[in-house]
Amino acid sequence: MAKQADTRTAGRKPVAKATRSAAETEKIRAALAARRDELSAEYDQTLSEITELQRDRLTDSAGDDQADTGTKTFEREQEISLANSIKERITQVERALERLDEGGYGWCERCGNPIPVERLAAFPSATLCVTCKQLEERR
Ligand SMILES: [Zn+2]
Repeated sequence: MAKQADTRTAGRKPVAKATRSAAETEKIRAALAARRDELSAEYDQTLSEITELQRDRLTDSAGDDQADTGTKTFEREQEISLANSIKERITQVERALERLDEGGYGWCERCGNPIPVERLAAFPSATLCVTCKQLEERR
């Protein structure tokens, strides 16, 4: 029972991209920069935790039994993989900032509409607007 949506002009491709005001671009830049700072702080924090775990391991490993050592190694590995994923997200944000400068960032790949600033701040790697994302997921 396919009911044609008559609110939409069928088969028409999005024409030229809508424009985004300079103020909006600035808002996105600020959101991305804030995000990057936040992630950097998180990254530094994780790195210092790794250093601490490392130090623990070197200093009081004498009294540890094998299980303790195993736990610490596991914790350290967890921290390292966390650090790596934070680093990855920082890279994503930095790429987003570069693309923003080139004017190729923040547009929905599907409908060509601008992706809301809030969404970009939360998901810097978002390439679809919320509506298109939901349509995509329903498929
Ligand atoms: Zn869209």
